[in-house]
Amino acid sequence: MKKWVIGNWKLQGSRSFLRSYFAEFAESAQASAEKFLAGGVQLAICPPASYLSEAVSVIADLSEPWSERVLIGAQNIAEYGEGAYTGEVAADMVKDCGAAIALVGHSERRQLFGETDAQVAQKMRQAFAAELVPVLCVGESLQERESERTLLIIEQQLKQACANLSSDQWARLVIAYEPVWAIGTGLTATPEQAQEVHAFIRAQCAQMQSRSVVRVPLLYGGSVKGGNAQSLLTQVDVDGVLVGGASLKASEFAQILAASWG
Ligand code: PEP
Repeated sequence: MKKWVIGNWKLQGSRSFLRSYFAEFAESAQASAEKFLAGGVQLAICPPASYLSEAVSVIADLSEPWSERVLIGAQNIAEYGEGAYTGEVAADMVKDCGAAIALVGHSERRQLFGETDAQVAQKMRQAFAAELVPVLCVGESLQERESERTLLIIEQQLKQACANLSSDQWARLVIAYEPVWAIGTGLTATPEQAQEVHAFIRAQCAQMQSRSVVRVPLLYGGSVKGGNAQSLLTQVDVDGVLVGGASLKASEFAQILAASWG
């Protein structure tokens, strides 16, 4: 199965940063170019919504093999289609800007903007309707982990978001396990902790799929860096990484890409 490496720039970047970043990335990742061309890794960057179109055109201008093969994603989409929803950006609109994927239910959205599981489920529907690949983010807080409720919380988040998916939708879904206590904190789940939760998510997905079971790509996120990516990516149920802070450094993101081939 293809590994996924996704960068989440959060609320950071500018038009000039986009150009210099991708130029530096193409240079730093030169050693990975042949393997990347051969397939095996799906690479994506999620810049702020205001830079989606610019990011698509910067990537189109890159040299081979990066040109047009790096996907662009939205960090969030509205739970509604178009209408009187001031300040929102609809899934169809990010698709129209050239985005191929969308993060849904990132813990910063849940924690800072009060996004509920019901809203996350609605955003999943919008993403599928717009033919975007939703990257559903789930994860427990420190308090939930310490009170041994990690698996219960993950199960609830998965069930709310994925209850009635069709087999086609299962085949297009990506899930990211992002323990809230590891996001932007410098604390990373150990490979064993990540594997334990990923195996649980894998089993939950199998249970929720009624007919044929598709292997959903399961990504780990939470303080992934050049130095720890490989130990996480070699776990049997870790199919990729979702990288926040370290994805803003082009050379470190290239290092994480290199780690995805083992
Ligand atoms: C994220 O934003 O999804 C994330 C995992 O952030 P960081 O890598 O900075 O912990």
